[in-house]
Amino acid sequence: MPDAINLGDLYAARQRIAGIVRRTPLVPAEALSPLAGTAVHYKLEILQATGAFKTRGAANKILSLPAEVRARGVTTVSTGNHGRAVAYVARAAGCRAVVCLSELVPENKKAAIRAVGGEVKVHGRSQDEAAEIAFALERDEGMTLINPFDDPTIVAGQGTAGLEIIEDLPRVYTVLVPVSGGGLIGGIAVAIKAANPWARVIGVSMDRGAAMYESQKAGKPILVEEVESLADSLGGGIFLDNKWTFGLVRDLVDDLILVTEEEIARAMAFLLDREHFVVAWGGAVGVAAILAGKVKNLGENCAVLLSGTNVDSKRLRQITAEQADWLDTLG
Ligand SMILES: *Cc1c(COP(=O)(O)O)cnc(C)c1O
Repeated sequence: MPDAINLGDLYAARQRIAGIVRRTPLVPAEALSPLAGTAVHYKLEILQATGAFKTRGAANKILSLPAEVRARGVTTVSTGNHGRAVAYVARAAGCRAVVCLSELVPENKKAAIRAVGGEVKVHGRSQDEAAEIAFALERDEGMTLINPFDDPTIVAGQGTAGLEIIEDLPRVYTVLVPVSGGGLIGGIAVAIKAANPWARVIGVSMDRGAAMYESQKAGKPILVEEVESLADSLGGGIFLDNKWTFGLVRDLVDDLILVTEEEIARAMAFLLDREHFVVAWGGAVGVAAILAGKVKNLGENCAVLLSGTNVDSKRLRQITAEQADWLDTLG
């Protein structure tokens, strides 16, 4: 691994991003704690600007660019929360953001990026083809391509959520974090392990195409077949030439847990019906793992990161209706 990311990088990130990124609350999980038999807390990144934690990393990256580089603008390839975050931060920082998407991306996702000031460029029928446009913008116009997770500046930005958890719950014993590319859990693990080496950081992914889980099992980054899943914010690989997040997860994360789509749907229904929080697919996997009894030894103080809120409200109502009988079994 290249030079390690340390606590100092996280504190520098926090100073840099203050003013664009919100400090989010950590609140007691009123309905989940009695079911879990211990004190569970939710870290509410659903209240973050743009509706997901990705604003932290994007802000740290864009604000770290030298002024003359930033002035040429930024670009990225993302259909979801990362694209939104890059567009939002670029507008706040006064530079251009071009988000490259394939023809298959639905209109509502393009609208969400435009709504926060991003320009949308459409090319090809896959993420890889859309990426060609971003590479061209980097090469021809000197724009900076913003990586969604495998960049130490992105990781340090995401890690600021971990600093806040430690400040609000100094005796935290277990931290549950959603995992896709591993930028979020990598940064959080740096913060938690520096403050509490005995605390446990546990990653949760969906069992469909869990690239980080399979790669850790294989001992190196591997390609995992992409499967259709409702939890689209957790899809995608970790890059075969992964430089940062694979090693961070290997060295600092205590365990990786997988949950099914049904378990995620239950967690979303539970969060809406019992806690009155709207949490989208990837954002709810930590609660899914607890409700499914998949986390052994939660300890006395547990923090669960609810990473994002961006979900179609019609779909959310449908899920809650489908899980009505299951919700009744909880009493
Ligand atoms: C991106 C994202 C994740 C996963 O973050 P990684 O840094 O890729 O592991 C989890 N939840 C939501 C809502 C996301 O947008």
